[in-house]
Amino acid sequence: MGPKRDFFISSASGRIHNPPNDLQRLHISIARSAAQQKAETTDLQMDLEAAYNRLVERRPVTLEGEAPDMALCTDISPNFQRRLYERWVKAQMKLRKLHIHLHFGPLLPSEEKVSKWISDQGWRSNTPSAAQFITEWKPHGSVDTALDAKQIRRLTRTQRWKGLVVTEDGGKGKGVVATRRFLAGEVVCDYHGQVVTASEGHSTRSTVGVEDGIHMFFFENMNGKAMCIDTHSPCCKCHPGRQTFGRLINHSRKRCNLRPRAYTLQNEEDIIIFLATKNIKENEELLFVYGVERRSFVGKALDLLWV
Ligand SMILES: [Zn+2]
Repeated sequence: MGPKRDFFISSASGRIHNPPNDLQRLHISIARSAAQQKAETTDLQMDLEAAYNRLVERRPVTLEGEAPDMALCTDISPNFQRRLYERWVKAQMKLRKLHIHLHFGPLLPSEEKVSKWISDQGWRSNTPSAAQFITEWKPHGSVDTALDAKQIRRLTRTQRWKGLVVTEDGGKGKGVVATRRFLAGEVVCDYHGQVVTASEGHSTRSTVGVEDGIHMFFFENMNGKAMCIDTHSPCCKCHPGRQTFGRLINHSRKRCNLRPRAYTLQNEEDIIIFLATKNIKENEELLFVYGVERRSFVGKALDLLWV
């Protein structure tokens, strides 16, 4: 056999008499080194974790805290100083964004408001950008959490819902259009009017006559009682001189982007809230399906009658 045919050679450059055996040894040695490498990486991560824990012991991540300087990070770990610093700053940024989110509640605030509020915090560095906050904004928590929020309750009282405008279209009459984007699941506004029992609602309806533009919203409340929101007059008694958005929202089966949901507040007050069923763009008309139908809203059967 010539040297060309000696494919496997031993570590001493001699000929190998049993290649399969040697190949097996090679495999074992490769597997061992990979396992070793993996163990080393884990060790490094453990070290980084331990170093970060030491850092936050000395400089806890708080809303107001100053970011650690490089000297402190180097003191804790010269190997990980940069990563320690970056991780701390990122953790504080996350905390600050959450803080802004909780402050503004479940409705998308304007960039101007967020920007002003951020500057009022007096954060000197690692300051979140209002524009980015708005871009990344998502409604948080469940619908029930949103409805329990003071902000929503206040808006059902004041009727000063933001991001909506009443429009007048020659053919169709009035409608409501979004002046900002709404994300699917977001509370858009409520259907406001005088809350009466369904039988009172029916008797009012027979008195005023069934004309076009007479609005009565019949529903079953969370306690199973048949109720009605009477909005047959353009303005309610509690908001004289003002037309509320809910009753001006038009019907569309094809293009509907809202769904109503009955909700009973802690003080037993019944409200009908409109939730966005899809992402709604600026200038898009708000629409929901009128009509007699039985649908399930978040597991709660609700009878909806629109007259
Ligand atoms: Zn009112």
